[in-house]
Amino acid sequence: MTTGASQPTTAPPRYVLEGRVVTLNSHDEVLERGRILVRGNRIVAVEPSGGPLPESFRDAPVIDTQGTLYPGLIDLHNHFVYDVLTLWRVPKRYLNRTQWPRHAEYAPRISLPIRLLGGHAPSARAIVRYIEAKALLAGTTTGQGIRTRVSGGEALFRGAMRNVEEPHDDHLPAGSTRVMDLHDDAEDIDSFRDALKSHAAYFYHLGEGVDDYAHRRYLDLAGHDLIQPSLAGIHSLGLQRQDLDMMAARDAKVVWSPFSNLLLYGQTLRVSDLLSAGVTFSLGCDWSPTGSKNLLQELKVARHEAARQGVSLSSRALVRSVTADAARVAGWQTELGTLRAHSLADVLVIAGTGGDPYDTLISATEKQVRLVIVDGVARFGDRTLMEQLAFDRTHPAEPWTVDGTEKAFYLWAEESPLNDLGFEAARALLDDAMADLPDFRRRMERMGAGAPEPFLLVLDNEPQDVFATGSEAAAFITDLNRVAGRITLDAPTVGGEDYWELVAAQPNLDDSLKQQLRADYA
Ligand SMILES: [Zn+2]
Repeated sequence: MTTGASQPTTAPPRYVLEGRVVTLNSHDEVLERGRILVRGNRIVAVEPSGGPLPESFRDAPVIDTQGTLYPGLIDLHNHFVYDVLTLWRVPKRYLNRTQWPRHAEYAPRISLPIRLLGGHAPSARAIVRYIEAKALLAGTTTGQGIRTRVSGGEALFRGAMRNVEEPHDDHLPAGSTRVMDLHDDAEDIDSFRDALKSHAAYFYHLGEGVDDYAHRRYLDLAGHDLIQPSLAGIHSLGLQRQDLDMMAARDAKVVWSPFSNLLLYGQTLRVSDLLSAGVTFSLGCDWSPTGSKNLLQELKVARHEAARQGVSLSSRALVRSVTADAARVAGWQTELGTLRAHSLADVLVIAGTGGDPYDTLISATEKQVRLVIVDGVARFGDRTLMEQLAFDRTHPAEPWTVDGTEKAFYLWAEESPLNDLGFEAARALLDDAMADLPDFRRRMERMGAGAPEPFLLVLDNEPQDVFATGSEAAAFITDLNRVAGRITLDAPTVGGEDYWELVAAQPNLDDSLKQQLRADYA
């Protein structure tokens, strides 16, 4: 199935990237004309351009990116396998996360399609290939939330993007995740405490909602002394000011997903509380059915929302929330999140070197993503840059185009079970399956005839994760006969008339946000 490992090379690739360098280091240094020296998967030096290169870099390619260099973006909350789905027309304003999965449309259009597609190897593989590429093309180099089952054993996917739960790097302690609400159950509380103790970061949907139910989920944690440094409270929407103060005092963290909150609940965290509490926070997209397609979009939403609340949230702080501060949330701050010597080489290059360097990133669209490097490997970018960084001649990059700009993906990864599947092939397979889901199901069942599937997705945002009892959830999700006839594959980039119509139809979003967001992409 895989195309085999490439020949071992004698020396790791070395190269130099030139441009404006936004380090996000402790002094927030910006080098107007700087360069990054990369050897293998590490940054060797970050320095002003112009001086002589060290001897060992004499033959290395020097690439003038004509762009601004940032650390790769870190998305600390996503249910990636659902990111093939388009924005859901949220029907009303909800109060907490136990409510919206009960809507009559939810199972047929969200749960069951993913259950069906994730339950057969061809479509499960296509989903992972597609959604990973969708994150990479907007500069995300680390993501939280892809889980697969390969040949029977549960495993996290080894792919082109870093994975918080299974980083495959001894220097990066693995995080862990819990989607299900914690209730007042002694055994469950003990296992929660153990998880906090044994992980650098434990990602937990905390107080997702605006009512008493949501706030009680926070009180349950606080009452059992579970507000600890490794706690990463996803959403934390139901928390009050004093709760955020407590989170900050205990060095617990927050993962903020403003677009998801606004779409479902019509409100998000009070940014002034978040800032004055001083709690470390990062951003997360949540998922495409009720969230942003990627972090470049989420950054824009966060900026507009802070302005709407009348709070001055600096562009620098926002950029830190997807780089340096996100690395802190994951417990990876010594290795990632800044551009400096010895850190892992995850780099994002955005076109252009003028204007405020932080605004440049927040305002960027996918078209302006010039280069995305993960672990020293160029994974996506302008075709000309990708060609200069194509050290693996055995597995050529796949060409692609964003708004007339020629790009390319290089998705091959050692030991990945997806090496024979390209981005366009994955897209075509999903388009075809989603055009007639019941027919796709019949075809798969005929083909499989009871054989175990070699590659499956593990779903992590299903009704059983949010409802109190499994039996209640079962009624919503087990009957695949209720799956929608056809659904649409979510386009990989933000934009298009269809997308803006879906945004315009959202009842819980301010008109001003709808207009501002659309203008950002005009
Ligand atoms: Zn979530």
